[in-house]
Amino acid sequence: MIDRYGRIIDYLRISVTDRCNLRCVYCMPAEGVPWKPHGDMLSFEEILRLCAVMAGLGINKVKITGGEPLVRKGVAGFIMRLRTIPGIEQVTITTNGLLLEEFFDEAGGVIVDGVNISLDTLDPERFSKVTRTTPGAFANGQGLPAILRALDRAQSLGIPVKLNCVPIRGFNEADLPGMAALARTKALTVRFIELMPLGSGDALEPIPGAEVAALLERVYGAMVPYSGKLGNGPAEYYILPGFAGKIGFINAVSEGFCEHCNRLRLSSSGVLMPCLSSDSGMDLRSLLRGGASDADLRAAVAELAAQKPPSHNFSAVYEREQTKHKSGMYHIGG
Ligand code: SAM
Ligand code: SF4
Repeated sequence: MIDRYGRIIDYLRISVTDRCNLRCVYCMPAEGVPWKPHGDMLSFEEILRLCAVMAGLGINKVKITGGEPLVRKGVAGFIMRLRTIPGIEQVTITTNGLLLEEFFDEAGGVIVDGVNISLDTLDPERFSKVTRTTPGAFANGQGLPAILRALDRAQSLGIPVKLNCVPIRGFNEADLPGMAALARTKALTVRFIELMPLGSGDALEPIPGAEVAALLERVYGAMVPYSGKLGNGPAEYYILPGFAGKIGFINAVSEGFCEHCNRLRLSSSGVLMPCLSSDSGMDLRSLLRGGASDADLRAAVAELAAQKPPSHNFSAVYEREQTKHKSGMYHIGG
């Protein structure tokens, strides 16, 4: 699909649940999200049908996200079926990593082409603060140690790993050089994602990517831009002297990244959204359950893709205009 600004739309992010086993300060309300009856969520069958339709429209890369995708039962089996859809060439997952070891056990082999693990700090106390978990909430090597074990396991399986870190003033600025240092000895990518003013992220102070870059350069030396391709998204990648892996920046707010946006987003309840900052989208669940044919679904998806805005409107939020994004990233899938 090509939208009215000439952008090729070939990437779909699918949220398979709004629920999560963490309550990150920038994403979820402290009390969690309202319980959604199972019937309100798309079944895996329904998602697979939509993916087959969208593959016919040129979607060839899929990201599984949430909420925390690994809290939904049967997600490994779903991914295995997703991979068999003709035209789907790449399936990746974004997770907080807590259940990733179990996912690898269940998968019994390599079933994803990449794993993004969201991790904002290596310090156990700050991990509790950012994720709103009580210190000691995880016993028997679970929690942060389990995430780090899963990271190593992914690497030993040969799965490309990206670590996503959201720098937040007053929470994890002291950890940023340490997070970057994971890429010193490990061949993975550490990405710093600018805090976006969505949901509870609206009340926190971002640390702009340029500031993080300057901090890393003071500690590790000058960064050299990396021109190779490392993903499907808007990140810019760099090499630090002596590092085995790469450092990435997604400066979504300070620089914008919409010019080359290639994606659509499917919420767990079946709303297809044209943009991260969209308030509404196309209700595909009603179409699916109302007996729509594949041709009807194709037409609906194409219509929605045609509505993709030229850019997100986060800056409007920063400028204290009226726009307020009530819904956190757990709903949109990041
Ligand atoms: N639970 C999974 C995880 O944490 O990776 C997948 C869903 S989560 C919503 C996807 C990504 O969105 C995570 O990397 C998270 O850090 C990011 N995110 C959530 N809220 C954000 C915000 N307000 N600004 C920037 N990134 C945010
Ligand atoms: Fe859960 Fe991911 Fe949101 Fe954290 S960022 S609360 S792990 S959905």
